[in-house]
Amino acid sequence: MINEKGNISIQTENIFPIIKKWLYSEKDIFMRELVSNAADAISKLRKLADIGEAELPEGYKPRIDVAVNKKEGTIAITDNGIGMTDEEVKKYINQIAFSGAKDFIEKYKDKTDDQQIIGHFGLGFYSSFMVSSRVRIDTLSYQKGAAAVQWESSGDTEYSMAGSDKKDIGTTVTLFIADDCKEFLDVWKLREILKKYFAFLQYEIYLTDENDKDKKEDKPINNTSPLWLKNPKDCTDEEYRKFYHEVFQDFNDPLFWIHINMDYPFNMKGIIYFPKLRFEFETMEGKIKLFYNQVFVADNIKEVIPEFMLMLKGCLDCPDLPLNVSRSFLQNEGYVEKISNHITKKIADKLQLLYKKDKENYEKYWDDINPFVKYGCMKEPKFFEKIKNIIIFKTINGKYVTLDEYLENSPDKKVYYVNDEKQQAQYIRMFKENSMDAVILNTLIDTHFISFMEMQNKDIRFLRVDADIVDSMKDKANTEEESKNLQEKLEKIIKEATGADKLKVRVEGLKNESTPAVILLSEESRRFRDMSRTFGSGINAAELFPAEETLILNSNNKIIRRIAELYDEENRKEDAVFAASHVYDLALLNHRQLEPEAMARFIERSNQLLTRLL
Ligand code: ADP
Repeated sequence: MINEKGNISIQTENIFPIIKKWLYSEKDIFMRELVSNAADAISKLRKLADIGEAELPEGYKPRIDVAVNKKEGTIAITDNGIGMTDEEVKKYINQIAFSGAKDFIEKYKDKTDDQQIIGHFGLGFYSSFMVSSRVRIDTLSYQKGAAAVQWESSGDTEYSMAGSDKKDIGTTVTLFIADDCKEFLDVWKLREILKKYFAFLQYEIYLTDENDKDKKEDKPINNTSPLWLKNPKDCTDEEYRKFYHEVFQDFNDPLFWIHINMDYPFNMKGIIYFPKLRFEFETMEGKIKLFYNQVFVADNIKEVIPEFMLMLKGCLDCPDLPLNVSRSFLQNEGYVEKISNHITKKIADKLQLLYKKDKENYEKYWDDINPFVKYGCMKEPKFFEKIKNIIIFKTINGKYVTLDEYLENSPDKKVYYVNDEKQQAQYIRMFKENSMDAVILNTLIDTHFISFMEMQNKDIRFLRVDADIVDSMKDKANTEEESKNLQEKLEKIIKEATGADKLKVRVEGLKNESTPAVILLSEESRRFRDMSRTFGSGINAAELFPAEETLILNSNNKIIRRIAELYDEENRKEDAVFAASHVYDLALLNHRQLEPEAMARFIERSNQLLTRLL
């Protein structure tokens, strides 16, 4: 062919600095673009062969070679795909690749908020100039009688074309790495980049260090058939686990998984895993890897993956995704909604199946999955609709119940709950002794979930176990009258003992005789206090909003009765007050932490008690 020099017809001078600036943080994208082009070229050749338009060489095996030569400062990417004729090079490279890059830049130049999406979706062949001072293409088309072509450019508007000595069908793109990008000549770094984007590419990729031919690898760096492409029927549990360990570097087994395999109305394949939480109260931090035809795009792309799913781990391959469009387009297009709807349904179906067919495991997994389920319910109304009947609650009796099951024994629609089993142990004991049940809601998300459930079920009220004395705990028959008589006297003693003027004191006869006193704090006051603690940074909420605690004294308890008696006895008044102080502190300790001064007094008093006893 005739040697040719030319000018690319469009004004491209201004593009380069812009590209450099934008893609600075994700320079390795050039690799993704070039290897993707190589894979496309192979797919095209195979398609042509399928329809009889091209002939594949004997024993044809698609492959991509990446050869790095640190001494020469080059990286060469070779495919045995379709190749290009000189006309095609002019058309596809001089015109399409360059004008494509120009259009791309023109479109996004002023949209700084679209940076992220540009980073994800790249610029095609042109991105090779991000790291190269010069790029050369050697290509031989599959077409009969085609001559090999060499093309070269430094990324400005000039290019040169000449004949090439390339013998095999396909294309080699050689990058002459720029001085400020030498780090890409490191084999380890290159392997890392290739593994990041192409761990699951459908064609084998071989990486070679040209300066160390002895170490020539005969193993591809990728797995060409990721598990998500296999028919779910043919996948074993072992395979799912192994895949999870490899991809997410998590040595724990996942709890269970969902294999998504749909062709219609759009194409989406993938595996979503429910991870095991490593420690109690851990919030799930997942990772959904998005792929486009087995090529990695990015982790956790919020524009595509529904937010609540970001707590899980998995791979999603969406070949129908319109990748070369802006974020706002993605949202308008309804693609996110379609993906979200489908996955939501799949997850809900899986949970329903587990609940119905394998309740034992469902309950076993609940501690791990409940933050996800609750978050999903609050974020995604459709998800809540689909699984609301299988939200379960662990009870203080170690069972799991649905809300409906709990309410069967709670005609007044009150749901009692515990959020700190140790702190609320005394109340739990009282509940148990009265054969009452309470649910345990102790994860970070539960405060919000409780409000959410109350909004959804307007007649239901969640009350913490220390919010009120339940009627069934009272021993009405025997003690109502007696309590009334004691009320005034005990109130006086407690005031004297504690000096707390605002403290409300109420005498009740409780069935549980062994408990002298308990502190109650109404649900409203407590939520208010918790809320101001969460939001009012630096403000001492307890001081600003003194909580309206109520001290319940049990008139069925021996100590309480004795305090009342002693108070009237000669020389024993002080002892009565002393005991009342101690009873009050003990009740407080069961309710919350004591203030430092109160704690010091409590210890001092305890020591005095022991001294008297011994
Ligand atoms: P895109 O791949 O999005 O079309 P590119 O700028 O990456 O844009 O490439 C422009 C065109 O150049 C491609 O559409 C293809 O026709 C051609 N091309 C690029 N790389 C190769 C290759 N390795 N083999 C054959 N053709 C290629």
